[in-house]
Amino acid sequence: MPILFVSLLIAFACTSLWASTSAPIQIILDPGHGGSDQGAVYFGVKESKINLKVALLLNELLISDKRFSPHLTRNKDVSLSLEERAEIANLKKGDIFLSLHANAYEKDSTKGVEIYFQNQLPPDEEVLFLASKENENTKKHNYLNWPLGFVNDAKGLNSEVTSILQDLQLNSRIRYSSQLAESLGEHWQVSKRSERHLIKQAPFHVISNVSMPANLIEMGYLTNKSEAKNLKSKTYQKKIANSLYLGLINYKDYIDKSPLNDLD
Ligand SMILES: [Zn+2]
Repeated sequence: MPILFVSLLIAFACTSLWASTSAPIQIILDPGHGGSDQGAVYFGVKESKINLKVALLLNELLISDKRFSPHLTRNKDVSLSLEERAEIANLKKGDIFLSLHANAYEKDSTKGVEIYFQNQLPPDEEVLFLASKENENTKKHNYLNWPLGFVNDAKGLNSEVTSILQDLQLNSRIRYSSQLAESLGEHWQVSKRSERHLIKQAPFHVISNVSMPANLIEMGYLTNKSEAKNLKSKTYQKKIANSLYLGLINYKDYIDKSPLNDLD
């Protein structure tokens, strides 16, 4: 295939994931669970509430910064299926999707943040178990279901070209999702004792069904008594929101410097 044509294809694939560096970045904030689905509940702390409170605090920070344009999938205690969350993100044409959660585990000493994105590697069993719990509020459990139909602008192109575009978009999305997880992990400064910012890959329904770079953040373990207490406190929630905000700024800087933007 001629080099110019290949370059145009790469530009097409990347610009549909990342429209323009001058426009504000559309960030879809997704507070996990809500309504009848409270998520994990330990020590009187409800996951759905913590997720919403942190999302609202992060939303405030992002609204006051012209570089970002945030949108919440829910801004109150209502039920929302995973399909609806992904649909909102895709309809809003988000540039980044962040789903906020709090974790639970049988060992109550386990604590710390975990940041997930989806790539094409087979997930380990522990992660599959966590994903099955977070995926409960969906009709489908299609773990490796990438939304390959999102090359909508490719109408009129032949199937070979469409398939190349889909591969390019998929690879680009994995790369950006991984970079986003790294940026968020680097800036996690919530508590010295909860610096465990593991970056893992997992087939969470909600991040595998959006067409933009996506991360799911397990902000801490509610099964750990001290972490549950922290997560309930407004000061700690503010620290989390601020860390995520700094991580998003770092990610934006990375994108601005990315050579792929020369193709815009
Ligand atoms: Zn959850």
